[in-house]
Amino acid sequence: MASRSVAVIGAGQGGLDTAAALRAKGYDGRITLVGEEPALPYQRPPLSKGFLTGAIGHADLTLRTESFFEAQDIELVTGDRACHIDLFGSRIELASGGRLDYDRLVLATGSRPRPLPVPGADLNGVLTLRTLADAEALRALLDGPPRQVAIVGAGFVGLELASTARSLGHEVTVVEAQARVLARALTPQLSRWLADRHRQQGVRLLTNSEVAALYGSASGQVEVLQLRDGTRLPADLVVIGIGVLPRTELAADAGLLVGDGVIVDPRLRTTDRSVYAIGDCARFPDSGPGRHIRLESVQNASGQARCVAAAICGDDAPYTAVPWFWSEQCALRLQMAGLTADHDETVTVGDPDEGRFSVLCYREGTLVGVESVGRPADHGIARRLLATGAWPTADEARAPGFNLKSFALKPPSQRLPARA
Ligand SMILES: Cc1cc2nc3c(=O)[nH]c(=O)nc-3n(C[C@H](O)[C@H](O)[C@H](O)COP(=O)(O)OP(=O)(O)OC[C@H]3O[C@@H](n4cnc5c(N)ncnc54)[C@H](O)[C@@H]3O)c2cc1C
Repeated sequence: MASRSVAVIGAGQGGLDTAAALRAKGYDGRITLVGEEPALPYQRPPLSKGFLTGAIGHADLTLRTESFFEAQDIELVTGDRACHIDLFGSRIELASGGRLDYDRLVLATGSRPRPLPVPGADLNGVLTLRTLADAEALRALLDGPPRQVAIVGAGFVGLELASTARSLGHEVTVVEAQARVLARALTPQLSRWLADRHRQQGVRLLTNSEVAALYGSASGQVEVLQLRDGTRLPADLVVIGIGVLPRTELAADAGLLVGDGVIVDPRLRTTDRSVYAIGDCARFPDSGPGRHIRLESVQNASGQARCVAAAICGDDAPYTAVPWFWSEQCALRLQMAGLTADHDETVTVGDPDEGRFSVLCYREGTLVGVESVGRPADHGIARRLLATGAWPTADEARAPGFNLKSFALKPPSQRLPARA
């Protein structure tokens, strides 16, 4: 039987894109999008970048205006939380007391900041950055006289924020437990190169450093961040950016299989065949090495939204998109295609000194990802080559004068066989 109603829990990037893609594909049943945040669905990437400097305003964040929902006949429920899913009755209960029946349910509940388990983490002036409300609070604090800002965690959000706060004239220290910045996401080459850019901008980077406690004034305002080695750093604003936890509580409570994400099959179906999970909250099989992964990116949420919308409309296919990601910091745009974790060989093309280069990452001779700085064309080509499997071998990439653009233009007969 064709589905007559789709409920989507979470009105963020993935939730909105699911609803929009369903209508774009001609789905004519009822679509309800439930979001606990009060605002219209908005994009998060500017929250650590242009929104804090004032370059991007509220209106620019909004993904779709109210008229879109009316025109597309999508029921948008904001400021209400789904608090229970009855899988047997195919029904959702809302915190407001409302109930919603569904034929298909899409979980797009996203993630929440990982808490920092140290004394003093609840002091005033200790913030996280996930929502528009978080960013508004941060913007109010950064929009004033210079502060001593400590950022815990040198991940993407932490480093973007460091760069933004520095550009606004604040003193910025980043405290990172790992030996290098973005250790989970980037190659050591790019990590080192990026750390140098931050230092040149005046950001103080402390790696191999763990926070032991935060101390505040009598009124409860944070004043000092203390490291495990006893070092005390003055700080009147502390932002915790040590990663996120997928929001799986609703799924777990309903009896769906969870484990660092809602577990889904290659078609993004949970252990209940009427329920899908997408975006930051979903753990799905990577079409490459066959392990389950969870990705936190706009591209992943949007791509999975389109995949699920197609499945609900009868075009059922596994999700196999090549992951990609971007970040902006130190006035640079970094672009990553593929997944570079566990690479065992890299080839750098271009010139890091000029800030225009790409790092090609191989695992057992297979190109698994490409990191690019200031070479948007490389990024676009890398995504195509990774999708088609027609990538250059490491030997080809090492040849003098090699560049991805010329490689991509070569007829296949003139390329070495890609795989060993
Ligand atoms: C500061 C910041 C900067 C970022 N920069 C980039 C970037 O440069 N590039 C990039 O690719 N990605 C970036 N990201 C990541 C990207 O924004 C996320 O990966 C993406 O938003 C994930 O989409 P999602 O739909 O899975 O989750 P979200 O967009 O987080 O949406 C989930 C929504 O579900 C709601 N929700 C949860 N539970 C319930 C419930 N029970 N009932 C109702 N509503 C519920 C939440 O309140 C939230 O609004 C950034 C993220 C942040 C926070």
